[in-house]
Amino acid sequence: MAPNAAVRTADPALPAAHAVPAGGWSDAAVLAATAAVADGPLSAAATRIDHGEYPLPILSALGEAGALGVHLDRHGGRFGLAISAMEAASRACGATGFLMWAHDVCGLYLEQSGNPALSGALLDDHVAGRSFGGTALSNPMKAFSGIEPMLLRARPVPGGYRVTGTLPWVSHIGQGQYCGAIAGVERADGTVSHEIMFLLRCDEPAELRPCPQFSGMEGTSTWSLRLKDYLVATDDLIADPARPFVGRIRGAFILLQTGMALGVAQGSIDAMLAVEDQLGHVNQFLDDRPADLAAELAELRAAIQRLALTPYEGSKDYLLDVLDARAQGAEFALRAAQSSLLHQGARGYLASAAPQRRVREAHFVAIVTPALKHLRWEMARLSRDVLPAEGVPA
Ligand SMILES: Cc1cc2nc3c(=O)[nH]c(=O)nc-3n(C[C@H](O)[C@H](O)[C@H](O)COP(=O)(O)OP(=O)(O)OC[C@H]3O[C@@H](n4cnc5c(N)ncnc54)[C@H](O)[C@@H]3O)c2cc1C
Repeated sequence: MAPNAAVRTADPALPAAHAVPAGGWSDAAVLAATAAVADGPLSAAATRIDHGEYPLPILSALGEAGALGVHLDRHGGRFGLAISAMEAASRACGATGFLMWAHDVCGLYLEQSGNPALSGALLDDHVAGRSFGGTALSNPMKAFSGIEPMLLRARPVPGGYRVTGTLPWVSHIGQGQYCGAIAGVERADGTVSHEIMFLLRCDEPAELRPCPQFSGMEGTSTWSLRLKDYLVATDDLIADPARPFVGRIRGAFILLQTGMALGVAQGSIDAMLAVEDQLGHVNQFLDDRPADLAAELAELRAAIQRLALTPYEGSKDYLLDVLDARAQGAEFALRAAQSSLLHQGARGYLASAAPQRRVREAHFVAIVTPALKHLRWEMARLSRDVLPAEGVPA
Protein backbone atom coordinates (compact mmCIF):
# COMPACT_ATOMS: atom_id res chain seq x y z
CA MET A 1 0.00 0.00 0.00
CA ALA A 2 1.06 3.63 -0.43
CA PRO A 3 2.99 4.81 2.65
CA ASN A 4 0.38 7.30 3.79
CA ALA A 5 -2.66 5.28 2.89
CA ALA A 6 -3.32 3.82 6.34
CA VAL A 7 -5.07 6.84 7.75
CA ARG A 8 -7.21 6.47 10.84
CA THR A 9 -10.09 8.87 10.38
CA ALA A 10 -12.14 9.84 13.40
CA ASP A 11 -15.76 9.86 12.26
CA PRO A 12 -17.91 11.80 14.74
CA ALA A 13 -21.02 10.08 13.32
CA LEU A 14 -19.80 6.78 14.77
CA PRO A 15 -20.29 5.86 18.43
CA ALA A 16 -17.28 5.01 20.63
CA ALA A 17 -16.72 1.32 21.33
CA HIS A 18 -18.22 -0.01 24.57
CA ALA A 19 -18.37 -3.33 26.37
CA VAL A 20 -20.78 -6.26 25.84
CA PRO A 21 -24.39 -5.29 26.73
CA ALA A 22 -25.66 -6.67 30.05
CA GLY A 23 -27.81 -9.43 28.52
CA GLY A 24 -25.17 -10.36 25.92
CA TRP A 25 -25.52 -9.82 22.16
CA SER A 26 -28.75 -11.32 20.78
CA ASP A 27 -28.63 -12.56 17.17
CA ALA A 28 -31.26 -10.04 16.09
CA ALA A 29 -29.50 -7.12 17.79
CA VAL A 30 -26.14 -8.01 16.20
CA LEU A 31 -27.66 -8.26 12.72
CA ALA A 32 -29.62 -5.02 13.11
CA ALA A 33 -26.66 -3.03 14.47
CA THR A 34 -24.32 -4.46 11.81
CA ALA A 35 -26.78 -3.61 9.03
CA ALA A 36 -27.03 -0.06 10.40
CA VAL A 37 -23.24 0.34 10.15
CA ALA A 38 -23.05 -1.38 6.75
CA ASP A 39 -25.91 0.55 5.15
CA GLY A 40 -24.90 3.87 6.74
CA PRO A 41 -21.30 4.95 7.34
CA LEU A 42 -19.71 1.93 5.66
CA SER A 43 -21.58 2.31 2.37
CA ALA A 44 -20.72 6.02 2.41
CA ALA A 45 -17.01 5.27 2.97
CA ALA A 46 -16.60 2.31 0.56
CA THR A 47 -14.94 4.32 -2.24
CA ARG A 48 -12.60 6.08 0.20
CA ILE A 49 -11.66 2.72 1.74
CA ASP A 50 -11.01 1.36 -1.76
CA HIS A 51 -8.59 4.27 -2.25
CA GLY A 52 -6.68 3.67 1.00
CA GLU A 53 -8.66 4.88 4.01
CA TYR A 54 -8.22 2.37 6.84
CA PRO A 55 -11.68 2.21 8.49
CA LEU A 56 -10.80 1.70 12.16
CA PRO A 57 -13.73 3.80 13.46
CA ILE A 58 -16.09 1.58 11.46
CA LEU A 59 -14.44 -1.56 12.89
CA SER A 60 -14.94 -0.08 16.37
CA ALA A 61 -18.63 0.34 15.59
CA LEU A 62 -18.80 -3.26 14.32
CA GLY A 63 -17.11 -4.37 17.55
CA GLU A 64 -19.69 -2.53 19.57
CA ALA A 65 -22.40 -4.22 17.50
CA GLY A 66 -21.02 -7.62 18.56
CA ALA A 67 -20.08 -8.45 14.98
CA LEU A 68 -16.42 -9.17 15.90
CA GLY A 69 -16.96 -11.55 18.81
CA VAL A 70 -20.04 -13.74 18.48
CA HIS A 71 -18.07 -16.65 16.97
CA LEU A 72 -16.06 -17.02 20.18
CA ASP A 73 -16.94 -19.68 22.75
CA ARG A 74 -17.47 -16.98 25.41
CA HIS A 75 -20.20 -15.40 23.26
CA GLY A 76 -21.96 -18.61 22.25
CA GLY A 77 -19.73 -19.87 19.42
CA ARG A 78 -22.19 -18.43 16.88
CA PHE A 79 -20.18 -18.86 13.68
CA GLY A 80 -23.25 -18.61 11.45
CA LEU A 81 -24.04 -15.23 12.95
CA ALA A 82 -20.44 -14.04 12.54
CA ILE A 83 -20.55 -15.07 8.87
CA SER A 84 -23.89 -13.27 8.37
CA ALA A 85 -22.44 -10.10 9.94
CA MET A 86 -19.38 -10.36 7.68
CA GLU A 87 -21.69 -10.83 4.69
CA ALA A 88 -23.62 -7.67 5.61
CA ALA A 89 -20.42 -5.60 5.80
CA SER A 90 -18.89 -7.16 2.66
CA ARG A 91 -22.09 -6.39 0.75
CA ALA A 92 -21.17 -2.70 1.25
CA CYS A 93 -17.35 -3.03 1.18
CA GLY A 94 -15.29 -6.16 0.55
CA ALA A 95 -12.13 -4.65 2.08
CA THR A 96 -13.94 -4.11 5.38
CA GLY A 97 -15.28 -7.67 5.20
CA PHE A 98 -11.68 -8.87 4.87
CA LEU A 99 -10.62 -6.76 7.87
CA MET A 100 -13.48 -8.33 9.86
CA TRP A 101 -12.29 -11.79 8.91
CA ALA A 102 -8.68 -10.99 9.91
CA HIS A 103 -9.92 -9.54 13.20
CA ASP A 104 -12.26 -12.50 13.83
CA VAL A 105 -9.57 -15.14 13.35
CA CYS A 106 -7.11 -13.19 15.49
CA GLY A 107 -9.73 -13.23 18.30
CA LEU A 108 -10.15 -16.96 17.71
CA TYR A 109 -6.39 -17.55 18.13
CA LEU A 110 -6.36 -15.57 21.39
CA GLU A 111 -9.31 -17.45 22.89
CA GLN A 112 -8.35 -20.91 21.68
CA SER A 113 -4.77 -20.41 22.94
CA GLY A 114 -6.01 -21.07 26.47
CA ASN A 115 -3.22 -18.69 27.54
CA PRO A 116 -4.63 -16.45 30.33
CA ALA A 117 -2.23 -13.66 29.34
CA LEU A 118 -3.92 -13.52 25.90
CA SER A 119 -7.52 -14.43 26.63
CA GLY A 120 -8.32 -11.84 29.33
CA ALA A 121 -8.47 -8.05 29.01
CA LEU A 122 -6.56 -8.13 25.71
CA LEU A 123 -9.24 -10.29 24.13
CA ASP A 124 -12.07 -8.23 25.66
CA ASP A 125 -10.62 -5.09 24.05
CA HIS A 126 -10.16 -6.92 20.75
CA VAL A 127 -13.75 -8.19 20.65
CA ALA A 128 -15.19 -4.78 21.53
CA GLY A 129 -13.20 -3.06 18.78
CA ARG A 130 -11.06 -1.09 21.21
CA SER A 131 -7.85 -2.66 19.88
CA PHE A 132 -7.07 -4.21 16.53
CA GLY A 133 -5.10 -7.06 15.05
CA GLY A 134 -5.03 -9.54 12.18
CA THR A 135 -3.38 -12.73 11.02
CA ALA A 136 -0.10 -13.57 9.32
CA LEU A 137 -0.95 -17.19 8.56
CA SER A 138 -0.95 -17.22 4.74
CA ASN A 139 2.65 -18.38 4.52
CA PRO A 140 2.41 -21.01 7.31
CA MET A 141 -0.88 -22.36 5.92
CA LYS A 142 0.82 -22.83 2.56
CA ALA A 143 3.94 -24.21 4.25
CA PHE A 144 1.86 -26.81 6.16
CA SER A 145 0.27 -27.82 2.84
CA GLY A 146 3.71 -28.24 1.24
CA ILE A 147 3.28 -25.29 -1.15
CA GLU A 148 6.15 -23.05 0.02
CA PRO A 149 8.81 -22.88 2.79
CA MET A 150 8.14 -21.29 6.19
CA LEU A 151 9.42 -17.68 6.17
CA LEU A 152 9.85 -17.02 9.93
CA ARG A 153 12.46 -18.93 11.95
CA ALA A 154 12.68 -19.13 15.77
CA ARG A 155 15.49 -19.99 18.19
CA PRO A 156 14.76 -21.05 21.79
CA VAL A 157 16.20 -18.58 24.33
CA PRO A 158 15.65 -18.25 28.09
CA GLY A 159 12.05 -16.98 28.62
CA GLY A 160 10.84 -17.70 25.08
CA TYR A 161 12.08 -17.55 21.48
CA ARG A 162 13.88 -15.13 19.16
CA VAL A 163 12.24 -14.88 15.71
CA THR A 164 13.78 -13.66 12.44
CA GLY A 165 12.35 -13.36 8.92
CA THR A 166 10.12 -11.30 6.61
CA LEU A 167 6.47 -11.73 5.63
CA PRO A 168 5.66 -9.91 2.37
CA TRP A 169 2.10 -8.78 3.25
CA VAL A 170 0.08 -8.68 6.43
CA SER A 171 -3.14 -6.68 6.76
CA HIS A 172 -4.94 -4.97 9.65
CA ILE A 173 -1.71 -4.13 11.48
CA GLY A 174 0.04 -0.88 12.46
CA GLN A 175 1.68 0.70 15.49
CA GLY A 176 -0.06 -0.51 18.66
CA GLN A 177 -1.65 -3.42 16.76
CA TYR A 178 -0.77 -7.09 16.55
CA CYS A 179 -1.31 -10.31 14.60
CA GLY A 180 -1.13 -14.07 15.03
CA ALA A 181 2.04 -15.50 13.43
CA ILE A 182 3.92 -18.82 13.14
CA ALA A 183 7.65 -19.57 13.03
CA GLY A 184 9.62 -22.78 12.52
CA VAL A 185 11.88 -23.57 15.51
CA GLU A 186 15.44 -24.30 14.41
CA ARG A 187 17.75 -26.80 16.03
CA ALA A 188 21.45 -25.96 16.32
CA ASP A 189 22.08 -27.67 12.94
CA GLY A 190 19.44 -25.48 11.20
CA THR A 191 16.80 -28.21 10.83
CA VAL A 192 13.28 -27.45 12.10
CA SER A 193 12.06 -29.35 15.17
CA HIS A 194 8.50 -27.94 15.26
CA GLU A 195 6.61 -24.66 14.90
CA ILE A 196 5.37 -22.08 17.41
CA MET A 197 2.39 -19.78 17.07
CA PHE A 198 2.51 -16.43 18.84
CA LEU A 199 1.03 -12.98 19.15
CA LEU A 200 3.27 -10.64 17.20
CA ARG A 201 3.14 -7.08 18.52
CA CYS A 202 3.72 -4.69 15.64
CA ASP A 203 5.66 -1.99 17.51
CA GLU A 204 9.46 -1.63 17.50
CA PRO A 205 11.52 -3.74 17.06
CA ALA A 206 9.08 -5.30 14.57
CA GLU A 207 9.49 -3.31 11.37
CA LEU A 208 6.58 -2.46 9.07
CA ARG A 209 7.49 -1.57 5.52
CA PRO A 210 5.12 -0.20 2.87
CA CYS A 211 3.90 -2.68 0.24
CA PRO A 212 3.72 -1.80 -3.44
CA GLN A 213 0.35 -0.35 -4.45
CA PHE A 214 -2.31 -3.05 -4.96
CA SER A 215 -5.16 -2.88 -7.46
CA GLY A 216 -7.67 -3.22 -4.62
CA MET A 217 -7.86 -3.72 -0.83
CA GLU A 218 -5.85 -0.51 -0.36
CA GLY A 219 -7.72 0.38 2.83
CA THR A 220 -6.67 -2.79 4.65
CA SER A 221 -3.43 -1.40 6.14
CA THR A 222 -1.29 -4.10 4.53
CA TRP A 223 2.44 -4.03 5.27
CA SER A 224 5.55 -6.08 4.80
CA LEU A 225 6.61 -7.24 8.25
CA ARG A 226 10.31 -7.69 9.07
CA LEU A 227 11.61 -9.30 12.26
CA LYS A 228 15.21 -9.48 13.43
CA ASP A 229 15.75 -11.44 16.65
CA TYR A 230 12.24 -10.39 17.78
CA LEU A 231 11.63 -11.73 21.32
CA VAL A 232 8.51 -13.86 21.81
CA ALA A 233 7.95 -14.12 25.55
CA THR A 234 6.12 -17.22 26.82
CA ASP A 235 3.18 -14.95 27.75
CA ASP A 236 2.68 -14.26 24.04
CA LEU A 237 2.67 -17.91 22.94
CA ILE A 238 -0.59 -19.01 21.32
CA ALA A 239 0.51 -22.60 20.73
CA ASP A 240 3.71 -24.61 21.16
CA PRO A 241 3.69 -26.83 19.12
CA ALA A 242 1.56 -24.97 16.53
CA ARG A 243 0.54 -27.79 14.16
CA PRO A 244 -2.11 -29.47 16.33
CA PHE A 245 -3.58 -26.04 17.11
CA VAL A 246 -3.75 -25.06 13.44
CA GLY A 247 -5.26 -28.45 12.59
CA ARG A 248 -8.01 -27.79 15.13
CA ILE A 249 -8.93 -24.27 13.96
CA ARG A 250 -8.33 -24.71 10.22
CA GLY A 251 -11.95 -25.44 9.29
CA ALA A 252 -13.18 -22.43 11.30
CA PHE A 253 -10.47 -20.19 9.76
CA ILE A 254 -11.47 -21.11 6.20
CA LEU A 255 -15.22 -21.22 6.77
CA LEU A 256 -15.29 -17.69 8.21
CA GLN A 257 -13.89 -16.37 4.92
CA THR A 258 -17.10 -17.34 3.14
CA GLY A 259 -18.75 -14.26 4.70
CA MET A 260 -16.66 -12.11 2.35
CA ALA A 261 -17.66 -14.14 -0.69
CA LEU A 262 -21.38 -14.10 0.17
CA GLY A 263 -21.33 -10.34 0.77
CA VAL A 264 -19.47 -9.40 -2.41
CA ALA A 265 -21.87 -11.63 -4.37
CA GLN A 266 -24.96 -10.15 -2.69
CA GLY A 267 -23.71 -6.60 -3.34
CA SER A 268 -23.26 -7.55 -6.99
CA ILE A 269 -26.84 -8.81 -7.24
CA ASP A 270 -28.05 -5.57 -5.60
CA ALA A 271 -26.24 -3.58 -8.31
CA MET A 272 -27.90 -5.64 -11.08
CA LEU A 273 -31.34 -5.07 -9.59
CA ALA A 274 -30.64 -1.34 -9.23
CA VAL A 275 -30.58 -0.94 -13.04
CA GLU A 276 -33.34 -3.41 -13.87
CA ASP A 277 -36.01 -0.73 -14.50
CA GLN A 278 -33.85 1.21 -16.98
CA LEU A 279 -31.87 -1.64 -18.55
CA GLY A 280 -33.91 -4.81 -17.98
CA HIS A 281 -35.16 -4.81 -21.58
CA VAL A 282 -31.61 -5.36 -22.88
CA ASN A 283 -30.11 -7.02 -19.80
CA GLN A 284 -32.55 -9.91 -20.26
CA PHE A 285 -30.16 -11.14 -22.98
CA LEU A 286 -27.33 -11.55 -20.49
CA ASP A 287 -26.42 -14.75 -18.65
CA ASP A 288 -26.38 -14.92 -14.85
CA ARG A 289 -29.48 -12.78 -14.31
CA PRO A 290 -30.09 -11.51 -10.77
CA ALA A 291 -32.95 -13.89 -9.97
CA ASP A 292 -30.85 -16.91 -11.04
CA LEU A 293 -27.87 -15.75 -9.02
CA ALA A 294 -30.02 -14.96 -5.99
CA ALA A 295 -31.39 -18.54 -5.99
CA GLU A 296 -27.87 -19.99 -6.25
CA LEU A 297 -26.61 -17.67 -3.52
CA ALA A 298 -29.43 -18.71 -1.18
CA GLU A 299 -28.45 -22.37 -1.68
CA LEU A 300 -24.74 -21.68 -1.03
CA ARG A 301 -25.57 -19.54 2.02
CA ALA A 302 -27.71 -22.34 3.47
CA ALA A 303 -24.92 -24.91 2.95
CA ILE A 304 -22.41 -22.58 4.66
CA GLN A 305 -24.77 -21.96 7.58
CA ARG A 306 -25.12 -25.73 8.04
CA LEU A 307 -21.33 -26.14 8.14
CA ALA A 308 -21.11 -23.23 10.61
CA LEU A 309 -22.96 -25.32 13.21
CA THR A 310 -19.87 -27.49 13.81
CA PRO A 311 -16.81 -25.34 12.98
CA TYR A 312 -14.39 -27.50 14.99
CA GLU A 313 -15.46 -30.84 13.51
CA GLY A 314 -12.23 -32.63 12.71
CA SER A 315 -13.31 -35.19 10.11
CA LYS A 316 -11.80 -35.23 6.65
CA ASP A 317 -15.26 -35.16 5.06
CA TYR A 318 -16.13 -32.03 6.98
CA LEU A 319 -12.92 -30.27 5.96
CA LEU A 320 -13.53 -31.24 2.33
CA ASP A 321 -17.02 -29.70 2.55
CA VAL A 322 -15.58 -26.52 4.05
CA LEU A 323 -12.91 -26.26 1.33
CA ASP A 324 -15.56 -26.86 -1.30
CA ALA A 325 -17.89 -24.19 0.14
CA ARG A 326 -14.98 -21.70 0.27
CA ALA A 327 -14.03 -22.50 -3.33
CA GLN A 328 -17.64 -22.26 -4.51
CA GLY A 329 -17.93 -18.93 -2.70
CA ALA A 330 -14.88 -17.51 -4.51
CA GLU A 331 -16.07 -18.78 -7.91
CA PHE A 332 -19.57 -17.46 -7.29
CA ALA A 333 -18.33 -14.02 -6.18
CA LEU A 334 -16.24 -13.77 -9.36
CA ARG A 335 -19.23 -14.69 -11.56
CA ALA A 336 -21.62 -12.37 -9.74
CA ALA A 337 -19.20 -9.42 -9.80
CA GLN A 338 -18.53 -9.84 -13.51
CA SER A 339 -22.22 -10.16 -14.30
CA SER A 340 -22.96 -7.09 -12.22
CA LEU A 341 -20.52 -5.04 -14.32
CA LEU A 342 -22.06 -6.37 -17.54
CA HIS A 343 -25.54 -5.51 -16.26
CA GLN A 344 -24.56 -1.96 -15.25
CA GLY A 345 -22.47 -1.27 -18.34
CA ALA A 346 -20.65 2.09 -18.50
CA ARG A 347 -22.12 3.34 -15.23
CA GLY A 348 -20.59 0.34 -13.47
CA TYR A 349 -17.25 1.05 -15.14
CA LEU A 350 -16.91 4.55 -13.67
CA ALA A 351 -13.93 4.87 -11.31
CA SER A 352 -16.33 5.53 -8.41
CA ALA A 353 -18.78 2.71 -9.29
CA ALA A 354 -19.30 -0.26 -6.98
CA PRO A 355 -19.39 -2.98 -9.71
CA GLN A 356 -15.79 -2.36 -10.90
CA ARG A 357 -14.65 -2.24 -7.26
CA ARG A 358 -16.41 -5.54 -6.57
CA VAL A 359 -14.71 -7.18 -9.56
CA ARG A 360 -11.38 -6.41 -7.81
CA GLU A 361 -12.74 -7.47 -4.40
CA ALA A 362 -14.00 -10.78 -5.82
CA HIS A 363 -10.59 -11.46 -7.32
CA PHE A 364 -9.06 -10.88 -3.90
CA VAL A 365 -11.48 -13.41 -2.38
CA ALA A 366 -10.17 -15.87 -4.98
CA ILE A 367 -6.44 -15.17 -4.35
CA VAL A 368 -6.21 -14.65 -0.61
CA THR A 369 -4.89 -17.75 1.17
CA PRO A 370 -6.27 -20.31 0.73
CA ALA A 371 -6.52 -19.15 -2.89
CA LEU A 372 -8.75 -21.00 -5.33
CA LYS A 373 -5.72 -22.89 -6.66
CA HIS A 374 -4.66 -23.85 -3.13
CA LEU A 375 -8.20 -24.94 -2.23
CA ARG A 376 -8.24 -27.22 -5.26
CA TRP A 377 -4.73 -28.52 -4.42
CA GLU A 378 -5.86 -29.31 -0.87
CA MET A 379 -9.14 -30.92 -1.99
CA ALA A 380 -7.24 -33.09 -4.47
CA ARG A 381 -4.78 -34.12 -1.74
CA LEU A 382 -7.52 -34.96 0.77
CA SER A 383 -9.59 -36.80 -1.83
CA ARG A 384 -6.56 -38.92 -2.74
CA ASP A 385 -6.28 -39.85 0.94
CA VAL A 386 -9.99 -40.63 1.19
CA LEU A 387 -10.45 -42.59 -2.03
CA PRO A 388 -8.84 -46.00 -2.49
CA ALA A 389 -5.97 -45.98 -4.99
CA GLU A 390 -7.02 -46.83 -8.54
CA GLY A 391 -7.01 -50.53 -9.29
CA VAL A 392 -7.18 -51.58 -5.64
CA PRO A 393 -10.21 -53.88 -5.16
CA ALA A 394 -12.82 -52.51 -2.73
C1 LIG B 1 -3.86 -7.04 -0.41
C2 LIG B 1 -3.32 -8.28 0.24
C3 LIG B 1 -3.51 -8.48 1.58
C4 LIG B 1 -2.98 -9.61 2.20
N1 LIG B 1 -3.16 -9.76 3.54
C5 LIG B 1 -2.60 -10.83 4.15
C6 LIG B 1 -2.70 -10.99 5.56
O1 LIG B 1 -3.33 -10.20 6.27
N2 LIG B 1 -2.07 -12.05 6.14
C7 LIG B 1 -1.37 -12.96 5.41
O2 LIG B 1 -0.82 -13.89 6.00
N3 LIG B 1 -1.29 -12.86 4.06
C8 LIG B 1 -1.87 -11.81 3.43
N4 LIG B 1 -1.79 -11.71 2.07
C9 LIG B 1 -1.13 -12.79 1.31
C10 LIG B 1 -2.15 -13.63 0.53
O3 LIG B 1 -3.03 -14.32 1.39
C11 LIG B 1 -1.43 -14.63 -0.35
O4 LIG B 1 -0.65 -15.51 0.39
C12 LIG B 1 -0.53 -13.91 -1.31
O5 LIG B 1 -1.35 -13.08 -2.11
C13 LIG B 1 0.30 -14.88 -2.16
O6 LIG B 1 -0.53 -15.86 -2.64
P1 LIG B 1 -0.29 -16.52 -4.07
O7 LIG B 1 -1.43 -17.42 -4.28
O8 LIG B 1 -0.06 -15.45 -5.07
O9 LIG B 1 0.99 -17.33 -3.83
P2 LIG B 1 1.77 -18.20 -4.87
O10 LIG B 1 1.18 -18.11 -6.23
O11 LIG B 1 1.89 -19.53 -4.25
O12 LIG B 1 3.13 -17.41 -4.92
C14 LIG B 1 4.33 -17.93 -4.41
C15 LIG B 1 5.01 -16.94 -3.53
O13 LIG B 1 5.52 -15.83 -4.23
C16 LIG B 1 5.30 -14.66 -3.49
N5 LIG B 1 5.17 -13.52 -4.39
C17 LIG B 1 4.55 -13.48 -5.55
N6 LIG B 1 4.67 -12.25 -6.10
C18 LIG B 1 5.37 -11.50 -5.24
C19 LIG B 1 5.82 -10.14 -5.23
N7 LIG B 1 5.58 -9.30 -6.24
N8 LIG B 1 6.52 -9.71 -4.17
C20 LIG B 1 6.80 -10.55 -3.16
N9 LIG B 1 6.41 -11.84 -3.13
C21 LIG B 1 5.73 -12.31 -4.15
C22 LIG B 1 4.00 -14.91 -2.74
O14 LIG B 1 3.96 -14.21 -1.52
C23 LIG B 1 4.05 -16.39 -2.47
O15 LIG B 1 4.59 -16.63 -1.22
C24 LIG B 1 -2.28 -10.57 1.43
C25 LIG B 1 -2.12 -10.38 0.06
C26 LIG B 1 -2.62 -9.25 -0.54
C27 LIG B 1 -2.44 -9.08 -2.02
